[in-house]
Amino acid sequence: MTFTLGVDLGGTKIAAGLVAPGGVVTRRMSAPTPAAEGPEAILQTIVDLATSLTDHAPGTVIAGCGIGAAGVIDPVSRTVQFATNSLPGWTGTRLGAEIERRLGMPVATVNDVHAHAIGEAVHGAGRGERTVLVIAAGTGIGGALVVDGVLQAGRHGAAGHYGHVPAAEAAGLACTCGGTGHLEVIASGPAILQAYLRRGGSEPGDTQEIFARADAGDDVAAEVINIAATALGRSIGGLINSVDPDLVIVGGGLAAAGPRWWNTVESHARAEAMGLLAGCRIVPTSLGADSAIVGAASLITTTTLLAPITL
Ligand SMILES: [Zn+2]
Repeated sequence: MTFTLGVDLGGTKIAAGLVAPGGVVTRRMSAPTPAAEGPEAILQTIVDLATSLTDHAPGTVIAGCGIGAAGVIDPVSRTVQFATNSLPGWTGTRLGAEIERRLGMPVATVNDVHAHAIGEAVHGAGRGERTVLVIAAGTGIGGALVVDGVLQAGRHGAAGHYGHVPAAEAAGLACTCGGTGHLEVIASGPAILQAYLRRGGSEPGDTQEIFARADAGDDVAAEVINIAATALGRSIGGLINSVDPDLVIVGGGLAAAGPRWWNTVESHARAEAMGLLAGCRIVPTSLGADSAIVGAASLITTTTLLAPITL
């Protein structure tokens, strides 16, 4: 059997897995992302994790390593085109070439949200479906469109920034991208927290606590969650009208927050969708924390990305 390695590189944690054919993770390892130490330390941590996984599987044929990484990743040059301040110095890192040289095996790279989407669309909740729209709602709002198992990454590898579409509920609010009035600043986890504070809510520890307060009868908490979920749901409805997908998969930290959020998102998505499309299936993710590892690994063995992989 030929295995692949999958790496999920986020701002706080790097998770890696040994992936069997069919997208089954047979062994996992992880380490904190040494973000403050810079790109070289991050590259070395990836190599260390990959080497440990390989060492624990003697005699196993490893076809290559797929990496889903934070930032906008050019799918052809495999270089980080843009990264936020959560990974200082990460922009410009020759991620694919450097890891390939150090591991001595083929390496494919993709954005981490895209890796998550490929994993869910190809091996998770979207298995067997043709046109799959994946939405990830948590710290940010992102996702991807996967058609016939192939990620539609766009000209710059930046497709799927669904948090950066205009949303009426976000009018006038400054966005993390430099624009104003985008969905992300009203519908993401941090946006819910900010909205709660703007409306005079007493300092909560985190977004999760706002959900707990809403359940306990806090009207302001319930209202800001309702506005966030309504805005996201309406946007998903607009995307359904644009794409006419076979299936919409919704994941990320907010999707696990319970029926209050989920039901509001789903009902507003259906209300916004045109009549013919209002019955579109909208389902949660199914691979849990493995989705990005599985999606990244699948870049090695299947044509899940339109861009050629340099071997
Ligand atoms: Zn924006």
